[in-house]
Formats: sequence, C-alpha cells, structure tokens
Amino acid sequence: MGELKIELTRRSALFGAAGAAAAAGLAATGVAHAAAEKQGALFQPVSRYGVGDMELTTLLDGAVPVGDPQKTFGMNVDADTFGEASENNFIPADNFKAFFTPTVINTGNELVLFDTGVGEGGRPARGNMRAALESAGYTPDQVDIVVLTHMHPDHIGGLMEGGAPAFPNARYVTGQAEFDFWSGMDPEANGVTQLMAKNVTPLADNMTFLGDGDSVVPGITAMQAFGHTPGHMTYMIESGGQQLLLAADLANHYVWSLGYPDWEVRFDMDKEAAALTRRRVLNMLASEKIPFVGYHMPFPAVGFVETDGDGFKYVAESYQLSL
Ligand SMILES: [Zn+2]
Repeated sequence: MGELKIELTRRSALFGAAGAAAAAGLAATGVAHAAAEKQGALFQPVSRYGVGDMELTTLLDGAVPVGDPQKTFGMNVDADTFGEASENNFIPADNFKAFFTPTVINTGNELVLFDTGVGEGGRPARGNMRAALESAGYTPDQVDIVVLTHMHPDHIGGLMEGGAPAFPNARYVTGQAEFDFWSGMDPEANGVTQLMAKNVTPLADNMTFLGDGDSVVPGITAMQAFGHTPGHMTYMIESGGQQLLLAADLANHYVWSLGYPDWEVRFDMDKEAAALTRRRVLNMLASEKIPFVGYHMPFPAVGFVETDGDGFKYVAESYQLSL
C-alpha cells in the first residue's frame, strides 16, 4: 500500500467548490465533459467530537507504513502465533501503518493541546500537526496549554518551530515523574534526552508538574499509566456527565496491543509494568464503557474497548460522540 496522502480541509473545500461550479456549468450547457481525473487517496487529517460541553478534535500528524511489525509488537511470541492473530483480525503480518495523533480540546475556556507530533524534523510524511490544527480552525497562538503525556520524540517533537516555541502563548503541563526521570539523565544520553534538552528544558520555567489525580483544568485529570515510560500519564476528560480517556501510548496497536496486552512492545521501557498497566486501564475502559483516544490507533483514533477472551477488542467510534 502506498503512502497515505493527506489532504487538508481547506484544499478539499476548494476542490469541493470547483467541483460544484463545474457541475452547475454542465447542467446549464448540457456539454459533455471528460471523465473525472483520479485524485488519489483522500483523508481528512482532523475529526471533531463532543464530550459533554467540550469539543475534542483529533489531529493526524502522520501515518506511515512500517515493515516487519514483529520487530515492534509481539516480540515475545513466535511468528506463527503472530501471523494467526493478524490473519484472524484481517491485517497483514508483514506490514502495518503507524499513526500519530495529537488531540486538541476546547473546554470552552481554554484550548488544550495534548502532545505535539514529531515536529518539523519529520516532514513531509509526519509532522503535519500544525497543518491539521489549522484545518481544525485553530491557530498555534490560540493554544493556551500544551500537555505532554510523556517525553518520546513523536510527542515532544512539535514543541519548537524554527528554534522558537511553536505555541507562543501556551503554558505547559507534564507528569512530575516523567520529567524527573528524563531530566535526571545526561542530556547527551540518547535521542530522547537530546530532543528533551532542545524542546522541553527551555520551556520548563513555564511548566506545571502533575501527579496521579491532579487536574490540568477542571474536567481534565491526570491518571498515572506507568510502564511505557517511567512517568507516562493518561488524562480523563469529564464534562456534562460524559467521560473519555486520552490514553496516549497505553496501547500502541489496535489489534496486537488490545487483543494481546501481554505481547511485548519494543517501545515499552518496562515491559512487565506496561502490560500490567494496559490490562488495568483497558479493563476499566471496557467495564465502564468509556471511549478513548489512542495516540497510535488508526485515525481518527477514537474508539471503545470490549473484553474478548483473555484480551480486548477495539471498537471504532461510529457516531456516539457526535450525536
Ligand atoms: Zn508514541
């Protein structure tokens, strides 16, 4: 499968207007016209939902085909087991698509962005979050708060743009344990600490550090989900009697991580803790029927969880959050 082509809303709107004008012209003249040209895959990089009185928009930063999935998922099972699970769920075992999906929430009082994508270094295949934000009707200077779920590069990469803060009016929020872990290391230790030194440390004076149960703003509560990284946080959104969990990297594939929570994932730093956390939180989502946004779920990345044997199944949102 070829690389996904991302069309922006504004451009799509123009195409739509041109198409309508052409159709009107044809109706008026009755003149025959050439067959429409193929346009390639079309994919809206934004999708908006309601959670109580809040508006939630998922923003596609990128979608990238990746070969050899077992280098990342199901590292502790044999190839036959992996192949069978994949086939049973209608996906190939030799290729997958990795999605990157920051979320922006308009609470009515603040515009809160959760994670920032891979940033300018990842373009053109990734790093489209700013374009998606614009497509969603927001400008970077409208963002009041940027929440970082954890410090992996695909989440903090978009904090800076051309060497300056990408969201010039924002304050920042992240987990205390996450910040302490990475900032306690030599800045040159690895790719994460290097990017953190460049993108996060310069903003630390304007950063609030949260623990389990602390609030970003009323209705947005931090919930620890350690394992993927030592201080990885999820955020529970509550408004008007509705709930939704921003699950970040709790589970990174809709089949291989939900169906088989104990399958080891390369990017889970503490694989045992990550698996335990995954089971605990997925159980909670399934039993309470709470929808979630998963940063690496198939775009638009909003779904529900149901129990399925010893694991879980991803149920993509249909219209529940747009009624
Ligand atoms: Zn990630």
